[in-house]
Amino acid sequence: MPAGPVRNLVTGGAGFLGSHLVDRLMHAGEEVLCLDNYFTGRKANIAQWIGHPRFELIRHDVTEPIKLEVDRIWHLACPASPIHYQTNPVKTAKTSFLGTYNMLGLARRVKARLLLASTSEVYGDPELHPQPEMYRGCVNTIGPRACYDEGKRIAETLCFDYRRMHGSEIRIARIFNTYGPRMLADDGRVVSNFIVQALRNEPLTLYGDGSQTRSFCYVDDLIEGLIRLMNGDHIGPINLGNPNEFTIRQLAEQVRSRINPDLPLMEEPLPADDPRQRRPDIGLAQRELGWTPSVALEQGLDPTIRWFRQLLS
Ligand code: NAD
Ligand code: UDP
Repeated sequence: MPAGPVRNLVTGGAGFLGSHLVDRLMHAGEEVLCLDNYFTGRKANIAQWIGHPRFELIRHDVTEPIKLEVDRIWHLACPASPIHYQTNPVKTAKTSFLGTYNMLGLARRVKARLLLASTSEVYGDPELHPQPEMYRGCVNTIGPRACYDEGKRIAETLCFDYRRMHGSEIRIARIFNTYGPRMLADDGRVVSNFIVQALRNEPLTLYGDGSQTRSFCYVDDLIEGLIRLMNGDHIGPINLGNPNEFTIRQLAEQVRSRINPDLPLMEEPLPADDPRQRRPDIGLAQRELGWTPSVALEQGLDPTIRWFRQLLS
């Protein structure tokens, strides 16, 4: 690596996770090229860095090749919430496949290390619980979630084939449901939906009977895991998520108890292929990265609610 600050490319850097990562890298004194097509990202998320000498903003779509000189590529560009990735499923599949292909090509040319933001969705509707990295998943290849799930699976495959063929330096994080400030109010994810509904004094919408489970990781913990993965020797795939599991009904109760305990919970149809349960086995991340999330759901909800309250006011 050349002398001087590390040069980072963050694809999807104007999005929820990407912008928190940009903050961490900038605070660490590194250089950041933030690349985004603003499909689900917003300039407001990184406005605090515009004009900073170590920061640069690039409007670009990762499905097109690009030439840049960087040391590290954090490849996060891809819509993450079902309503957004299902808006144009063919584009989502292209973003995962071509986007990762283009970024691996760039990484190979400039000998950069590339970290792929993969997902727990590679496990699909899992028959094994909690999910360890060796579990190969249960994905419906032709369902409405497949553009995203299979897109991430082929992205992982591409990373490993570049490593085998070209010796590329890769890191793969399988990220589980993460929440926190800067989620979009209208992206349909459960934490943002419940908080926004409660702040608007509307009923909280439980899809199905709310007995399906998820495990929610606060954004600061997740970013710490990504940084440890990029800096360490373990290449992954490695699960990053909070192993504390909640039913969706329990989440709704936690949110409304903080905002307005009188709000009703309203059952709505369960979307197709909605996974019944999800909880990461984080033994590998604990051993290899010395990483364990430290923010409990009860703690992480408060700053998230504060952020949405300000956004909506
Ligand atoms: P997000 O939608 O907030 O961020 C994605 C960013 O990528 C946005 O800024 C969007 O505009 C940009 N983008 C989308 N398509 C692009 C393209 N073709 N070219 C350039 N930019 C593009 O989502 P997020 O929650 O921040 O997720 C970031 C990454 O982490 C995604 O790859 C997602 O699959 C992964 N992930 C997130 C979660 C989670 O719970 N947040 C869970 C698992 C995996
Ligand atoms: N969900 C819900 N009400 C909502 C939004 C989502 O009950 O208003 C459910 C959804 O069906 C799923 C879970 O919450 O079972 C998590 O949904 P999200 O879209 O946040 O994440 P993913 O399903 O991708 O894990």
